Amino acid sequence: MIKRYQTLDAMTGRFVVQHHLATADHFDFRLEIEGVLVSWAVPKGPSTDSRVRRMAIRTDDHDLSHETVEGAFGRSTVLVWDRGDYTTTSRVAGDPIVAAAALARGRLSVQLNGQKLRGGWTLIRLPDQQHETWLLIKKADAYADPSYDPVAQFPESVLSGRTLDEIATDDQPEP
Ligand code: MN
Repeated sequence: MIKRYQTLDAMTGRFVVQHHLATADHFDFRLEIEGVLVSWAVPKGPSTDSRVRRMAIRTDDHDLSHETVEGAFGRSTVLVWDRGDYTTTSRVAGDPIVAAAALARGRLSVQLNGQKLRGGWTLIRLPDQQHETWLLIKKADAYADPSYDPVAQFPESVLSGRTLDEIATDDQPEP
């Protein structure tokens, strides 16, 4: 059922994108939805070119406290690559719906207000019975820019200014 009137609280939340170097290098894209960080692993990271579709594999929900997790953890290094607020912009028949409803429908549109990522983005679930595979696509709005490649141009942490290499070196336990 679609609720016609949503409070601002129900339509907004935090988002974080973490660069995660583990067995595979990927970006974890996380949106606060109903008290948890709903998460996708994006192998290539987000593209600001609206013609590019980036594969996003749904992964486990994380606690909200994970938004600021950064460091070297055994063989895994995590960098807070971008974070900020977002607003849900999904609609059904013209009516706004909350992110949880859009998630269940397999098509979630958000407006990101981060330091590196801005503007509209859409997550679309592929018809795949085995894995939750989605596509992450930049909307063709004023923030879409094929010449802007934040993954390559701005690799540093928005929390600490460090690179993955610096985090891996800094956070190694003393021998
Ligand atoms: Mn990860």
